[in-house]
Amino acid sequence: MISLPTILPEYVLSDRSSSSWLSSFMFRRFLAGNPNRLKGEGFYQRLVFSPLRQEYCLQVVLYYRAQIFPYHINDYHPFFVYYDIHENIIRLAYDSGHHNITIAPLTEKYIMTVRFPWHGYKHNQTAFSPPLKADKFRLTNDILQAWWLQIGKPQFKLRSKFVDPWHPGLTTVLPSAGSFRDEAVCPYCGAIVLMDTMYLKGTTLSCPIMCPNQHEFTATYDFFSMIMQSIELT
Ligand SMILES: [Zn+2]
Repeated sequence: MISLPTILPEYVLSDRSSSSWLSSFMFRRFLAGNPNRLKGEGFYQRLVFSPLRQEYCLQVVLYYRAQIFPYHINDYHPFFVYYDIHENIIRLAYDSGHHNITIAPLTEKYIMTVRFPWHGYKHNQTAFSPPLKADKFRLTNDILQAWWLQIGKPQFKLRSKFVDPWHPGLTTVLPSAGSFRDEAVCPYCGAIVLMDTMYLKGTTLSCPIMCPNQHEFTATYDFFSMIMQSIELT
């Protein structure tokens, strides 16, 4: 397999155990099943440190082997928890469905409820929501690369904001705005188009795009420069 960089050079992947970092979290499920450890389902997590900001980000992805409706294999739902140097939570950005970002209000205890059928989270929903039992796994480079390089729907579609958890698209969003997905900018009119599946050519992912104003261009993501680019059709 191609070895791809999974983190911006300015950050550090921490090998500290991340099991205790979610001690102020409770997880529940609304009509959703518990992840099945035997299928490799559960929370995959890694801890990233920014020496410049003196902040940690715990990146967590809840993985289900399949989403029932619409059916496709491999379903991923991220949330990012940001900590200051004293390990106090300073920000929680979570996938509230379809990879849309919602910022939770700061609180002592975070209740995150996984909701059927799309497996997005809702903060503070407890009604009809029993506890979620999920195993935790370390999100290694190998796992991340394998997720990225799958073809079609099962592909993990979070790239630029995953290698850069301090991406402006994650840290400057309003309480309910933005997406964990990559953003391509139309080179003709500046419209932002959210990226879906991309196709690997060498070490670059690419995808033909038509913006809402009917402009056609190609979006590419280079795993080595970690830059998303929009290329005009000639
Ligand atoms: Zn356009």
